[in-house]
Amino acid sequence: MKITNVTTYVVADRSQNQIGARMDWQWVFLKVETDEGVTGWGEAGASARASGVAMGTAIEHVKEAVIGENPMDIERLWHKLYRRFSYMGSRGFGTSLTAGFDTALWDIKGKVAGMPIYDLLGGRFRDPVRLYCNVWFRGCSTPEQYAEAAQKNLLDEGHDACKLDPFLEMVPFHTMYQDGQISNEGEQLGYDIVAAVRETVGPNHEILIDAHGHYNVPTAIRLANNLYEQSNIGWFEEPVPPESYDALREVREHTAAPICVGERLFTRYDFIPIFRDRLADYIMPDTIWTGGISEVKKIATMAEAYYIPVAPHVVPGGPIELIAAAHVVSSIPNFYRLEHSQFNISTHNEMLKEPYVIKDGALHLNGKPGLGYEPDEEWLLANLHPDWEVASS
Ligand code: MG
Repeated sequence: MKITNVTTYVVADRSQNQIGARMDWQWVFLKVETDEGVTGWGEAGASARASGVAMGTAIEHVKEAVIGENPMDIERLWHKLYRRFSYMGSRGFGTSLTAGFDTALWDIKGKVAGMPIYDLLGGRFRDPVRLYCNVWFRGCSTPEQYAEAAQKNLLDEGHDACKLDPFLEMVPFHTMYQDGQISNEGEQLGYDIVAAVRETVGPNHEILIDAHGHYNVPTAIRLANNLYEQSNIGWFEEPVPPESYDALREVREHTAAPICVGERLFTRYDFIPIFRDRLADYIMPDTIWTGGISEVKKIATMAEAYYIPVAPHVVPGGPIELIAAAHVVSSIPNFYRLEHSQFNISTHNEMLKEPYVIKDGALHLNGKPGLGYEPDEEWLLANLHPDWEVASS
């Protein structure tokens, strides 16, 4: 069996964030074709602003590395692609690209075997897949609005865990780092929002806080401890920017709240200090950014040896990322919860031929071979990024 063609689709998201700015998320899908008529789908690098077209272009240049190869050789092809970027940093952009191919090859293997991917990964440890809900607060800016959205989008929908970044003052600087501080008013508003959500959802609902790596060490310690004391948060995520393990250690040593990191750690190698030095209570590898189904399975197994639970990061990924992550966590013992974006469910399902099903706060996979779900190519073609053209084969 040989890979005969790879087609790349870069899709533009036109939605807005909670302060009305264009998200400009871009989703990149790959279709891998074979000489036996079996086709696999993958998703690559959905990170953020303007990277989708760059990623699609890179895939178009790199795809000759896999054309003519046997799609069953997933492990070898992962290394072949990963090592192509060795001299400019294999992690991040390179792993996001590799993940697109990796996922498509798992999809092909599952279809050939007539089995869902979780069966190829060791079999099912659980069904369905427990979720935590993100992006349930569109348009909210006051504690009252958050409380109302929590009732409608979390409780009424059957969720028992959510995530939010309540420090709205930081939203314009999202993913940027300036002085790492927040005003007293912004800090208090954040506390009030979380308290209002806790009041609404009650004591048994998990409230996870995403700090988006916005803070310096003393600010992160103060926010995490206050939120834990006031509202019993389940984790404080990315307290400081991801570059410094030493800063993370400092926060960890002075914080009562559980810590979660990992969406900006790439491959098994970046997770070594986290496990060895016990720098986090939870990890959240992103199935695309860190290198695909193969890599998350490996990271999860490493975490298992330390009894650290895994909660894969998904947002802002597309539907293939969500499904791919669900296959991995279906097969691992040390699973906590899978992220999903409530806001994106409808767009995700427009992209797919068969919609995925979320019920009672859990994702129910359809049990079909491979991923079990495929993008609708007509939809992809109708929603391409304006700067993207699908190459003819
Ligand atoms: Mg995050």
